[in-house]
Amino acid sequence: MYIFAFVFAVLSAGWTLVFGWDTVPHTGRWHVIGVDADTAASLGERAFDEVLAREPVVAEGPAVEAVRDIVARLAPHANALAGRDFDWDFAVIDDPAPNAFALPNGNLAVQTGLLPVTGLEDGLAAVVGHEIAHVIARHPEERLTQQEFARLGQFAASLFFADADPAAQAAIAGALGLGAEYGILRPFSRTHESEADRIGMILMARACYDPRAAAQIWQRMAELGRASPEILSTHPAHETRIAQLSGHLAEAMAVRESAGCAPLPAQVG
Ligand SMILES: [Zn+2]
Repeated sequence: MYIFAFVFAVLSAGWTLVFGWDTVPHTGRWHVIGVDADTAASLGERAFDEVLAREPVVAEGPAVEAVRDIVARLAPHANALAGRDFDWDFAVIDDPAPNAFALPNGNLAVQTGLLPVTGLEDGLAAVVGHEIAHVIARHPEERLTQQEFARLGQFAASLFFADADPAAQAAIAGALGLGAEYGILRPFSRTHESEADRIGMILMARACYDPRAAAQIWQRMAELGRASPEILSTHPAHETRIAQLSGHLAEAMAVRESAGCAPLPAQVG
């Protein structure tokens, strides 16, 4: 029984390796995506519904209006950059931890603990832009694909090194994708974080926000010594991140200028 499932999983992985290549908008990095857009969308919707059912969602108020305005302003640029229309949706969650996250199909969440650090304008747009960037770069789908390959590797190992190991049963479930939902909220890798920072700044620039605000919120986080939610996870370190963001600032400022935005004040607002 295991062997049929294993052969199926190997064939499916082979198919992905041949046909699953795609490039990330703006950065042009090649990655392998083994989850089709419809499956990813339904996983994203289901996971988002579960989060909203479990967490205290803020129904209205200045924070909700601010995030709504920012999503409305950034979304057309994100769709244009990705060459695809996403079904953008967001929630503000009443939680003191300074965190935010993104799920496939355009589902975003911002926790109220971020607001004292970001404010309700450019700093918040930097966070929302970063999360939108994860979505259009298809980072959740890429991570799921990597997990599938890892599970397949574990299962192959279990076939060779163990005889009807009970763990093989768990591995096969994983190899067939049943574990996908559980992996969807895991932290992103350093590559994904850096890429989302860079693309997020481009989206800010295209929508005439101040891209300098991105590095500024990291500086504030570092000063506050805040611990590690998704948006400021231990990787990359604050200093590395601020340096990388500063490195991408010239690119973002050029994009902002060619978008015909009003000039920025000397200081970040
Ligand atoms: Zn992130």
